Amino acid sequence: MPAPNVERVVPCPTCRQPAVYAERNRWRPFCSARCRGIDLGAWANEDYRVPAAPPAEAGDDDRPAPPRD
Ligand SMILES: [Zn+2]
Repeated sequence: MPAPNVERVVPCPTCRQPAVYAERNRWRPFCSARCRGIDLGAWANEDYRVPAAPPAEAGDDDRPAPPRD
């Protein structure tokens, strides 16, 4: 029978670094929160909220903002 204490190590889907696939790795199968966020394409997880980025045109004084409808 397989030993229950063996921790499986898998390559992180994002950076290919070894990532422990076990309960102590909350980001499994990723190696870190950063890699998991990249893979999801957004930091939408409720454990990792970040403030919304300001609009790109907010600090752009080189040209007037386009009129809004
Ligand atoms: Zn990674």
